[in-house]
Amino acid sequence: CLFLLFFEISGVDEHYTPIRTFQVCNVMEYSQNNWLRTNWIPRQSAQKIYVELKFTLRDCNSIPLVLGTCKETFNLLYLETDDDQGSHFREHQFSKIDTIAADESFTQMDLGDRILKLNTEVREVGPMTKKGFYLAFQDVGACVALVSVRVYFKKCPYTVRNLASFPDTVPIDSQSLVEVKGSCVNHSKEEEPPRMYCSTEGEWLVPIGKCLCNPGYEERSNTCQMCRAGFYKSTLGNTECSKCPPHSFSHHEGSLHCGCEKNYFRAEGDPASMACTHPPSAPRNVISSINETSVILDWSWPEDTGGRRDITFTVVCKRCRVVAANGSNGGTQRCEPCRSSVRFLPRATGLQNTTVTVGDLLAHTNYTFEIEAQNGVSSLAPKMRQYAAVTITTNQAAPSPVTVIRKEKTSRNSVSLSWVEPERPNGIILDYEIKYYEKQETSYTILRARGCNVTLNGLKPNTAYLLQIRARTAAGYGASSPSFQFETSPDSAFSISSESSQVVLIAISSAVAIILLTVLLYVLIGRSVHHSLDSVLFLSVIFTSHTNPFLPFFIFCRSCKWSIHALRLPGVRTYVDPHTYEDPSQAVHEFAKELEASCIAIDKVVGAGEFGEVCSGRLKLPSKKEICVAIKTLKGGYTDKQRRDFLAEASIMGQFDHPNIIRLEGVVTRSKPVMIVTEYMENGSLDSFLRKHDAQFTGIQLVGMLRGIASGMKYLSDMGYVHRDLAARNILVNSNLVCKVSDFGLSRVLEDDPEAAYTTRGGKIPIRWTAPEAIAYRKFTSASDAWSYGIVLWEVMSYGERPYWEMSNQDVIKAVDEGYRLPPPMDCPATLYQLMLDCWQKERNNRPKFEQIVSILDKLIRNPGSLKITANTTPRPTNLLLDRSSSEAPSVGTMGDWMDGMRTLPCKEAFSGVSYSSCDTLAKTSTEDLKKVGVTIVGPQKKIVSSLKALDSHTKNGPVPV
Ligand code: AMP
Repeated sequence: CLFLLFFEISGVDEHYTPIRTFQVCNVMEYSQNNWLRTNWIPRQSAQKIYVELKFTLRDCNSIPLVLGTCKETFNLLYLETDDDQGSHFREHQFSKIDTIAADESFTQMDLGDRILKLNTEVREVGPMTKKGFYLAFQDVGACVALVSVRVYFKKCPYTVRNLASFPDTVPIDSQSLVEVKGSCVNHSKEEEPPRMYCSTEGEWLVPIGKCLCNPGYEERSNTCQMCRAGFYKSTLGNTECSKCPPHSFSHHEGSLHCGCEKNYFRAEGDPASMACTHPPSAPRNVISSINETSVILDWSWPEDTGGRRDITFTVVCKRCRVVAANGSNGGTQRCEPCRSSVRFLPRATGLQNTTVTVGDLLAHTNYTFEIEAQNGVSSLAPKMRQYAAVTITTNQAAPSPVTVIRKEKTSRNSVSLSWVEPERPNGIILDYEIKYYEKQETSYTILRARGCNVTLNGLKPNTAYLLQIRARTAAGYGASSPSFQFETSPDSAFSISSESSQVVLIAISSAVAIILLTVLLYVLIGRSVHHSLDSVLFLSVIFTSHTNPFLPFFIFCRSCKWSIHALRLPGVRTYVDPHTYEDPSQAVHEFAKELEASCIAIDKVVGAGEFGEVCSGRLKLPSKKEICVAIKTLKGGYTDKQRRDFLAEASIMGQFDHPNIIRLEGVVTRSKPVMIVTEYMENGSLDSFLRKHDAQFTGIQLVGMLRGIASGMKYLSDMGYVHRDLAARNILVNSNLVCKVSDFGLSRVLEDDPEAAYTTRGGKIPIRWTAPEAIAYRKFTSASDAWSYGIVLWEVMSYGERPYWEMSNQDVIKAVDEGYRLPPPMDCPATLYQLMLDCWQKERNNRPKFEQIVSILDKLIRNPGSLKITANTTPRPTNLLLDRSSSEAPSVGTMGDWMDGMRTLPCKEAFSGVSYSSCDTLAKTSTEDLKKVGVTIVGPQKKIVSSLKALDSHTKNGPVPV
């Protein structure tokens, strides 16, 4: 400091700390002008300077005799210069900052104590522009001591906010804030430009924007640090690094993502947080149900989905044949893709459900289907892909319809037509049936043609006709073509006589035919009288008339009792009762192929029939592949009748050709033992098969089996054959789960069936499976077969439970007659239970036809979602049997009523010893508890438990009918 009449003196502050002060106290003299100046102070970056003064000032009043001269203020001044001017001092260069007065002054007494009362004053100066400045203190007659002078400026210090660094910033003036841009710290990027404001008070205000750590880096203590090994961060952001997901790793720091382990993959679009996955294993349990030239494939989900949910299925169709290899015994399998005309429903790829229907296959052809489950990474690992393969052989099928018909030539009375062979003949076309009629008429004419053209003669002139064509192969007739319309040319005057000549011609030909028939009948009757009337005659007569030109039918004579046995319209195959043959062995040889016993090898016994054992074995016919067969034998010591009855089954079976009817391979009658050889059904009879696999099939698989049975029964009813003993025990199941109707016979069928019981009218009938009218007055029809089908449906859905459990036959007859029906099996889809109830309509004409049953089941297969609504979700009957006669289910009465309602249970007494205090306790009853009280049969056990639950829900939720 430069002293200009200020004195440096020692003292103590109020805490008695020694201090040095600059003092002046010339209060006794007038015109004082004493100065103290600081050294040159460099301004640095400061704009605005703060000066804090600490001083003491003597109270003028406390100094005697100084009135008028004593002052109680001093002046603070400054001078800006660019350099230090040393001791050079010019008073007028200084500018006054302020006059400083004391807040507190001290008195003589304070002085005596040498205690100084400190005043603190702060003043601002600036903005300054030069490199430095001086401060000066001017005393004009006060008694003042300057204790300290602190000179300072304010700034916002370096800081990091939101991962942006902000430098030291000095505010410019006292009014405005300084906007400062931040810069992102290392390994980070601006999300929004970072900014802050530096206030005049040196405080950072209003942070805006921020920076985010780069991928591979995470925020740690205001910096972006690399992810550790085993962690990754794939995105920009201030989230933490994540641990590598399952089956992936990162060996290095700062990883953006984790690499997949061996044999694990990540699909495009898989997030980095997702575990690495692999292709799924092959689908399981592939089941095929073949229906002529289409097949329904059904499978289960793969055991291992590869850790993904985006599973779809692809079905590849191949036609495979074994090609004999030169010079070796074996052969190689050669496969080629199926024709593009093969239809997949809904499609062949990207299937989300586990079923597909493949149609328009060739008849009698081997196909292999490869079913692959695929997921999002299947394409990345072609070597790991697996598929399940199933090989099938399509059945015989009728030809597809003729679709293209052309009119070649028309005249007044004739027309020439040609057509194109059906797209899928499915065999060799034997001939075509041409059916035509006048557009306004209902009677029609049928012609046959071997080639693809025909000329229709004898038509009316100027008349519109409708025509349909259908092709016939060994498999029967295909569907008819759509109706084709044509018109003959207009009439002329001459045509009237032509028409009348036609009538004359027809009359003559009819008369000739009738005469011929009469002569033939006469001869035959005469012969039958002479030959003890024992021969069966077979006569085909063709009547020709204007409306019905071709109507062949057969006439049989048996012991002179003439009867028209069957009216055969062209193309409609009808079942022929082998008992109408005088010699049943003739029927056998008409319908069954005689096999050489040497072609048959018996392997083992698989069952027991009424006439002998049933064995499995192999049949090898010359130039045919060896096949597995079932062989029914006729045990030794049989009577003629037994032999006839035994072979009657073959005579019946041999007339059928359908994928759901057991196929007859042939019979051995010329050597002993007498045998019936049929295709082999690996899974045996349906009832035991279901019991063995309780609850193991999907609804769609069960419906597939039921559809097969219904389709077989439709075929039988179309043929005019009534089965009479349709039951799960008489259905056989092959390795593809295809169900086939078996056990054909006549009266003997029922004799053979252990379930058959004698009725009051003497016949033996399987009561539980048989319609009431068949039990009551032996009215066996396809409608009574439909009743039995309903029972089979119930058996299938309950996995082989015995219908009506242990109720006696008499109780069953009575209950059914009173309108009671079997309740729905556990988890039975409501639609199937409704079908059962429809089959069990008392009025037989109200029962569905097999054709309708097939179509109902087809609809269910196409819409498997409909199987989800179960009949069990509807209220349950109190009784074992559901009362169908009352339209409204009865509401629950007392507990005692309910117990009464259980009267048909075999365990009715079982409950009499059980004390039940409330519905709650009953509802908790388990099948184990029931076993303890003697109810050991599964059906009633399940039924009682579910009924108790229903009763429980009733008591909790109010009166629901159970
Ligand atoms: P059936 O005399 O036809 O009732 O046959 C008696 C038992 O032999 C059946 O319950 C089946 O277990 C078995 N069986 C009959 N036919 C076949 C077949 N075609 N394939 C396999 N097993 C059969």
